This record gives sequence, structure tokens and C-alpha cells, in this order.
Amino acid sequence: MSTLHFGSALLPTGWADDVQAVVTDGIITKVTAGTAPQAGDERHQLAIPGIASLHSHAFQRGMAGLAEARGETADTFWTWRETMYRFALGMTPEDTEAVATLLYVEMLEQGFTRVGEFHYLHHAPDGAPYANPAEMATRIAHAAEITGIGLTLLPSFYAHGSFGGAAPHAGQRRFVCAIDQFAKLITATRLAVRELPGANVGIAPHSLRAVTPDELAAILPLAEGGPIHIHAAEQTREVEECIAWSGRRPVEWLLEHAPVDRRWCLIHATHTSATEIATLARSGTVAGLCPITEASLGDGIFPAREFLDAGGRFGVGTDSNVLVGVADELRQLEYGQRLKHRERNVLSGGPGISTGRALLDSALAGGAQALAQPIAGLQAGARADIVTLDTAHPSFAGRRRDAVLDGWIFAANAGVIDCVWAGGNKVVEGGRHRLRQKARDTFNAAVRRLVA
Ligand code: ZN
Repeated sequence: MSTLHFGSALLPTGWADDVQAVVTDGIITKVTAGTAPQAGDERHQLAIPGIASLHSHAFQRGMAGLAEARGETADTFWTWRETMYRFALGMTPEDTEAVATLLYVEMLEQGFTRVGEFHYLHHAPDGAPYANPAEMATRIAHAAEITGIGLTLLPSFYAHGSFGGAAPHAGQRRFVCAIDQFAKLITATRLAVRELPGANVGIAPHSLRAVTPDELAAILPLAEGGPIHIHAAEQTREVEECIAWSGRRPVEWLLEHAPVDRRWCLIHATHTSATEIATLARSGTVAGLCPITEASLGDGIFPAREFLDAGGRFGVGTDSNVLVGVADELRQLEYGQRLKHRERNVLSGGPGISTGRALLDSALAGGAQALAQPIAGLQAGARADIVTLDTAHPSFAGRRRDAVLDGWIFAANAGVIDCVWAGGNKVVEGGRHRLRQKARDTFNAAVRRLVA
């Protein structure tokens, strides 16, 4: 058992001063506000809850920044995807673990304490399954274990190259499974995370491009009540191809034909009509927004204002991991809306409400729902995922409470996060994860070889 004391802390009920948190076996067991620090308390000035990155493809961190020179034709998501496929084909299980380890170190240093790993790099480079079908998932789980990040592993079912069951491309061979093979992969993945504290497993039908309706129906029971994530409507070309195949847009098709509810998370949902937005909001499904990746790939801008006005829920994901940070994702989300609507504080929720606070509250709740964490935040019963901010940072001068969140998200770059506890373990101190140097060295050696 350990006890922490915070000068102020953001609780589910709002900000409170003089907060003591008791942590037992990685879980917050008691939170008391308005209590003076006791002997034995570890003291910090300001605490907020850790946030989930609900959507990550860890291996892509290794190619971050490698697709930023223009090609012969206009560069799009689809040309970026070719670079990604080439990079993926070279990665060994050791490389994957090295890249995921550094990524999770960076996530924790930037305030993400749980990751939803939408994992599709399953097989050996020739497309044959490894002896352990969950070899790559096991490497992801090991990276989570040694860094301390909470893991929701979402093995992805990927079978086709386009809508209507088209054959997969050669570049997709490491991702592709038959249904019975996928069932074995799920079983092996559950084994791989069995000993990992706080880990859980869901499934991720990759997209309507990669999965037929019959396959979707066949794999859903494999989730066994866990979360279900799917990419949807990230690109306008995807919407056009979906209409050509089915007469429906991707989100529209899912809402009509799949049991989309609170267990589901639709990743991106960028190109959605007003009707889709209203129905999606009513379904209780989380929209998994990945604002930095969506900007990086030129996807488009999600109708966030309309979705929130309709009562929709969202969380944020780092997706391609081209840049990793809670504040960065939330800032990009709000700034996309400002550019689109030519207004300020679009997502604040109402007069006088801090935009940073509104964004953080939504991302905390949406991330927890999407990764099946029934209790989140600084309260009894939640995993002890806690972030403290350095109140001496110049962007916080004279600020309290919500104004500190706005200073962090909109007015600071580095040096804001002081300590991070993940599952009760203090893994980041003075802004540095305890494995930072080792993780960098291993990552650098692996990626130098991969890009050579
Ligand atoms: Zn993705």
C-alpha cells in the first residue's frame, strides 16, 4: 500500500484541494479530499487522471516521419499506406517489441496510461503464421509489461483487399487470417496477457474493406463481451467504394447491419452525414478520433461539434503514432474545429467552460468506455493511473485548476508532466520514464537496420 497527497486533484466530481489517495495492489482504494498531508504520504502539487490512447498501431512508430517527401503523384493516405506496408514487411518480432517499448515509454511520458492496440501485424514476413500464432501479440504484451502501460489488446481480423471480399494484396500477407485461424489467434492472445495486470482483450474487424458481412457476423462472438473496434469512413474514397458496393456509406452500413452499441468503437468516422452523426450518438458508441494522424494523412475533419451537440461520446487515439501526446491530440482536435468553423473554443460545451477541461473529461470517459474500463479517473476502484503536472512551468504561472489544463493543452510543449503512475507504479519521474534510455537504444538499433 502507498499513499499520495496532492495539493489539488481533478476527481470525477471536479477539482478538490488537499487530496489523499491510497493505492493498494495497483488500484486506488480510497480518495479523501480536504485532508492535510500525513507522515508517509508522497506529496505532489497537482494531479490529473491518465488518459487512454484508444487506438494505436505500435509498429508504425518506427516509420514516423519517413513518408514526408512528396512522390511523383499527389500524395494521399493510399501512397502513405504503401510505405507502411513496405516497412511492416521487414519487422521481426524483436523489432516489434523494440518499437512498441519505446512507443509506450513515450505514451507514458506524455500522459497516456492505457493503450488500445489495434493489432494486425500477425504473421511472419512470408505470410505464414508463427509457431505461436500470437507471437507478435506476445511481444506487444511484453512491451506493455516492462513499461507499465495498461493494455487492451485488439487483434484485428483482416481478410480482403477491398469491399465485397476482394483478394488481399501481397503487401497485406502478414495481416490476413481465415476465421478458424483468427479464433486460434484470439485464444493464444488471451493466454499471452493472462498474467499481465489490468490487461484485457477485444477484437478489431479491420474495416468493411477487409471484412465481409458474413465474416463480421462470424467473428463477433469471439469478443466474448469485450470491446469491438473497427476503422470506418476515414477516407472519401472508402465512402465512395462502400456506396458502390452496398448503396450505403460505411458508418450507415454498420449502424444498419451490425449490433453497434456501447461496446463498439468506430475509429475515425471522419466522413459521416448529419443522419449518421445523430444515429451514432444515440447508439452510445464511442467515436475513436485520432486528430494528429487524421491531419497527417489528409483524412478530413470529423464533425465533432455536431456529434457532441447530439450527445455523442469520443475518445482519442494516437493511431500511426507519428507524434505522441495527450495535449497534442486534444489541441489538434479543437484546432481542426476552429479552422473549419472559423470560431474559437468550439468544443468547450458552453459559456465559461474551459475547453481543455471539456476535452480531457470527454477523452477520459470515452477512452475508458472504448477499452472496457468500467471505473476510470481518480476514484476508489479505478486502476491507479495518475499524472502530476509541474506547477512551476511558466505556462501555469498564476493559474489554477481548469486554467492549468488549458495552459498545458494550448500553451506548452515539453516539460509539463512530472510524474506518472501506471497501475500504481511510478514509471515516470521528472518527466523521464525509467526505461527511456534503454528503450531508445534498442529502438534506434532496430530502426536503423529497418530503414537501411
Ligand atoms: Zn488505425
